[in-house]
Amino acid sequence: MKKTKLIIISASAIFILLIAVIVGIIGADESSSSYDNSSEFLMSTNNKIAVEYYSNNYRKILNSHLKGTTKGYVPLFRCIYLYNILMEQSDFCDGKDDCKPLNNYNENDDINVSKIIDNSSMGKYISNNNDDAVKFFKKAFNDSLNENGTLKSLEEVCKNDDYNSSKGCSKSFLNAVYKSGFESESGYPQVLNFPLKITNSISISSIFNVKRIVNLSSESFIDYHSGWDISAPAQTKIYSACDGVVTATNNSQKENKQSAIANYVKIKCDIKLNIQIEIWYWHLYPNSIVVSKNDHVSANQHIADVGTTGLSTGNHLHFQIVQVGHSNQRLDGFAYINWSKYNTSE
Ligand SMILES: [Zn+2]
Repeated sequence: MKKTKLIIISASAIFILLIAVIVGIIGADESSSSYDNSSEFLMSTNNKIAVEYYSNNYRKILNSHLKGTTKGYVPLFRCIYLYNILMEQSDFCDGKDDCKPLNNYNENDDINVSKIIDNSSMGKYISNNNDDAVKFFKKAFNDSLNENGTLKSLEEVCKNDDYNSSKGCSKSFLNAVYKSGFESESGYPQVLNFPLKITNSISISSIFNVKRIVNLSSESFIDYHSGWDISAPAQTKIYSACDGVVTATNNSQKENKQSAIANYVKIKCDIKLNIQIEIWYWHLYPNSIVVSKNDHVSANQHIADVGTTGLSTGNHLHFQIVQVGHSNQRLDGFAYINWSKYNTSE
C-alpha cells in the first residue's frame, strides 16, 4: 500500500515537473518565471478565490473608467487595502471578526501587508456581489484618483475623513506598506501614453498579474499574466507609448489566427527613470508592423495594428513593460501611463 502511494506521489511529482517545464518553454516569449513583490498577493493560495473576485470587480471598474469621463488607474493592491479600511470601519463588519484583518496586528508588530490581504476573508462578500462590498471597492478606486486621472499618494488619500482615523492610515501601517514594496511614498512616474485610442470598442480583457488558466485548442496551462490585455477590433492602430528605439520585431505569422509565435514589436524607451524600460506589443496583425529594428520612434507614432497571432484567442493587444536586462521582473505598465491626457469625453 505504502509503495503504491509512493509511486503515485513520485509519478505526480514528475508529471508536475514536466508540466512546469512545458509551461516554461511555451510561456517563455510572453511570461516570466519569477515574480516581484507586488504579485505575491495575487499568487497566494489562501485567498485565491477572493482575489479572483476582486480582480473581476476591478476589471469592471477599470473598464467603466475607460468609457467614462474620468480616466485613471489605481493599482489593485491599493484598492484592496483601502477597501479593507472602509469595510472595517463600517456597520457591515459589526460582529464579524473575519472582517477585520488589520485588527490582528499590534502597532509594534512587524507588519506584513501581503499577509493582511491574504488573511482577509472579505473576498467572500464581494463574491456574493454584496452591495456594500462592491460599493466600498469602487469608492476605494475613486478616492485614489485626482480629477485629472493621476494617482494620489496613499498618505493623501488618508487625509480624507473616511480613512483618517483608521488603523490602516496610522503612521506605523503606512510605513509598513512602503517597506513591503507594494507602494512607494512618491508614487509612480506617469510618463507613458496609452497605446490605443480610447473608444467604446476597446476594453480590458485581462489584468496585470492575474492568475489565468489559458485554454487553447492545443493545450491549456496556468499563467500569471505579465502584461495587460486590451481587447480591440482587428487592425485597430497601435501607437508607441514612448519615444524610443525599436529593438526587435517579428512578422513571421502571415495569418491572423492562433499560432506558435506572435507577431510583435519591442521598443526601448528614451525615458529617464531609475530603471530602463522596454515595451512589448504582442499578437500583432500580419504585415501590419510599420517600423523596423533600430528605427527611432516617437510617442504616439503608429507602429502596428491589433491582431490575434500567437497564443491568443481573440483580437487584442498584449501590452507589457519590461525592465531592460531583468525581463523576469514584472512591472505594472498601467501604473506608468499619464492618464491626465485622457480625461476628456469624446
Ligand atoms: Zn496578455
